[in-house]
Amino acid sequence: METVFTKICAGEIPSTKIYEDDMCVVILDINPIHKGHSLVISRNPYPSMGKCPEDVLSHMICIAKKVEAKQREVLGCDGSNILINNDPASGQEVPHIHIHVIPRYQNDGLKFGFTHEKYTDGQMADFGAKLHL
Ligand code: 5GP
Repeated sequence: METVFTKICAGEIPSTKIYEDDMCVVILDINPIHKGHSLVISRNPYPSMGKCPEDVLSHMICIAKKVEAKQREVLGCDGSNILINNDPASGQEVPHIHIHVIPRYQNDGLKFGFTHEKYTDGQMADFGAKLHL
């Protein structure tokens, strides 16, 4: 399957690449939450986490760790959000797995727009039992 990221990985669409190897490519996001916002992209277009082999996923998270360390060193950020939007229901726009590494600054005022649900009595234990691995 071809995606905007397969074209970027192949160099068919211009991007600002900050790292690449045989499993992944890291680029700067064109629409950053903060400047330096990076995307660790698998070279092969696995659409989501469930389809991505574990060795590739493990490698990508190790590269994300290096990216966040570099962001702290160079940008002076105080933390980061490291996230995968996993399938369209989560808001994933590009169906090709990628890890966002978003630099964050103390008191930068950004908040995720999520709301929270509440468990009724006993419900948390039920969910725990169902989700137990
Ligand atoms: P998603 O919602 O799929 O997790 O995030 C996709 C991300 O890819 C978005 O943050 C978006 O700004 C970024 N993006 C989409 N198209 C391009 C592109 O052509 N170049 C770059 N550098 N980033 C892109």
